[in-house]
Amino acid sequence: MDLRDTPGEATLRSEIRGWLEANWRDGMDPNEWFTILADSGWAAPLWPEQYGGRGASASEAIIFNQERQKIGADPPPRGIGVPMAGPTIIQHGTEEQKERFLGPMLRGEEIWCQLFSEPGAGSDLAAIQTRAVLNENVWRVTGQKVWTTHAQLARWGILMARHDPSLPKHAGITYFICDMQADGVEIVPLKEMTGEAIFNEVFLSDVEISDDLRVGEVGEGWKVSMTTLANERMALGLGGLGGSDGDAPIDLEEANAESSLDTMGKFIARGPQALVELAKRSGMINDSLVRDELARVYTMYEVNRFTGYRVTSALMKGQGPGVEASTGKLAYNQLVRAVADFLILIAGSGAMGAPDDDDDSARLLRVAERLNLVVPATSIYGGTDQIQRNIISERVLGMPKEPRTDAELPFSEIKKGG
Ligand SMILES: Cc1cc2nc3c(=O)[nH]c(=O)nc-3n(C[C@H](O)[C@H](O)[C@H](O)COP(=O)(O)OP(=O)(O)OC[C@H]3O[C@@H](n4cnc5c(N)ncnc54)[C@H](O)[C@@H]3O)c2cc1C
Repeated sequence: MDLRDTPGEATLRSEIRGWLEANWRDGMDPNEWFTILADSGWAAPLWPEQYGGRGASASEAIIFNQERQKIGADPPPRGIGVPMAGPTIIQHGTEEQKERFLGPMLRGEEIWCQLFSEPGAGSDLAAIQTRAVLNENVWRVTGQKVWTTHAQLARWGILMARHDPSLPKHAGITYFICDMQADGVEIVPLKEMTGEAIFNEVFLSDVEISDDLRVGEVGEGWKVSMTTLANERMALGLGGLGGSDGDAPIDLEEANAESSLDTMGKFIARGPQALVELAKRSGMINDSLVRDELARVYTMYEVNRFTGYRVTSALMKGQGPGVEASTGKLAYNQLVRAVADFLILIAGSGAMGAPDDDDDSARLLRVAERLNLVVPATSIYGGTDQIQRNIISERVLGMPKEPRTDAELPFSEIKKGG
């Protein structure tokens, strides 16, 4: 593909830049910004216009993301609402659900979380055991979810639950919207090694969910969840793309970002030039090992950028992010690991237990520390590295498929937990 902007894209890019300059101010109230984004359709450019998006193409969304990052403007409301829950409700939800949920989601008034993973169901998501039993028009849901990011902030959760254990595991699942403030929802924070508690265990004890909060037909939960996960891959792919074009000056303010994941995203978005500048500032730019590592990380940034273009190319052909997204996620994960290692190389052991001081050398230590503690997460969320490699081996390399012996068995007959 031709990687330069088409004349139309160049015009759009300059329009977007003008729009961002007119609407974004450093330090502005996030709620004001979210409202502006929602009103303009840029909170969810890929959504159809009738639901508050712009019906934009993937390349338009990427251009917006790149320009937004260049100017340092905040992203749309955090969480899985706009990228994952919204598109799922648009595709499978009822008109009432669209009317009720999409507006507050776009404006960041209601945060969403994803109640999919369980202690015995992560990579093998179809192994979920949370039960949903219908009684007249109300479902009663009981089970345990885990690793639920931002459950403590969320007003609503997208939930997979098993309505019929006598069916094969993929067939017995139904998809719901769960009120996180309902009786029987207990949220227990899980402290991560960064010291933060971003994700949680969520215990569901006889939680009532009205049938009008079911998304899709009974038994279609697996199909509906595939829409959610495809949109997650799209978001991860687009995020990586937006971040790979960075050339913003470095000020290490990322050290003070709200979460370590934010620190990582912001720092990676600065691009390889930031690492060169840090090596210069630390007086290590002439060290041959440092130069060697810089070349390696620069190469990985380029690999990441070109892999990103493959995702764009697939999206622009209307193919959706498939295997390209797996390759993109792996490339991104390798890049963030390499950047984290590089920071340790120039920051040294002071990055363990970094000080809170308000100067650049302390900030560098904090960025290095935060990146190194959070980087393993990227190889797990959104599908582990091993699962991405399985996808690539089966779908690109044509290697033999992993044996799946339990797909046709009634779920109740499958041995659990071993
Ligand atoms: C930061 C973060 C945020 C998250 N947020 C959420 C959230 O909001 N909501 C949510 O529902 N979940 C969330 N998760 C959970 C995440 O989706 C799961 O952790 C992930 O799918 C892996 O599942 P698991 O932890 O059960 O590991 P397992 O699936 O048990 O895997 C354990 C190990 O075995 C390997 N493995 C498993 N199966 C195979 C296979 N077939 N072939 C080769 N290797 C295999 C894995 O790669 C891994 O190394 C989050 C995770 C992280 C790290």
